[in-house]
Amino acid sequence: MTAARLLIVGPQGSGKGTQGVTIAQSLGVPAISTGDVFRAAVADGSELGRQVKAIIEAGNLVPDELTSAVVRERLSQPDAANGFLLDGYPRNIGQVGDLDAFLAERGEALEAVIELNVPREESIARISLRAQEQGRTDDTAEVIANRLAIYERETAPILDVYRERGIVDEIDGVGSLEEIGARIAAALAARGIVG
Ligand code: AMP
Repeated sequence: MTAARLLIVGPQGSGKGTQGVTIAQSLGVPAISTGDVFRAAVADGSELGRQVKAIIEAGNLVPDELTSAVVRERLSQPDAANGFLLDGYPRNIGQVGDLDAFLAERGEALEAVIELNVPREESIARISLRAQEQGRTDDTAEVIANRLAIYERETAPILDVYRERGIVDEIDGVGSLEEIGARIAAALAARGIVG
């Protein structure tokens, strides 16, 4: 099997969590969402959860040092030895550097970055729907606006870094789950990444 070290990047409400899980499953690699890790830690009331609770509720970014330590630990688990799909990390240029350093230590590199594009109104509509369905406390109108602003300011620029490396696949994130999944699978297949 080819190694598949992938990122999925997109604004909140782009559907990247759902698509990420599906692709990871088809490739046989773990889907790792830092947002899920933090939410689970908060739910458990662990030390990590206590450190990040207020930050997550405000929709701000957890400090890079803490986030990158969590990711390093997770990527060191045996199930990530042959690949992984990261969802929600890196979230800024500093985290790109942290991930590069970690992978370089292991003689590894990212194979592809999936950029999932959806218009702003559509992501807001999807987040609001999810807030109602799942009762997520970080999904109030104010927090949603903050998170989208942070995405545009801090996260979107990481795509330029990866674009320079020629590893970004831009995917239209509007359509049915199946249609979007097929677009991603085709883009990865063109890079020789198949399940
Ligand atoms: P998400 O589910 O990816 O939207 O993440 C939920 C929240 O977890 C974010 O609003 C941040 O507070 C925090 N978070 C998740 N990933 C990161 C990251 N890579 N860096 C900093 N904070 C993060």
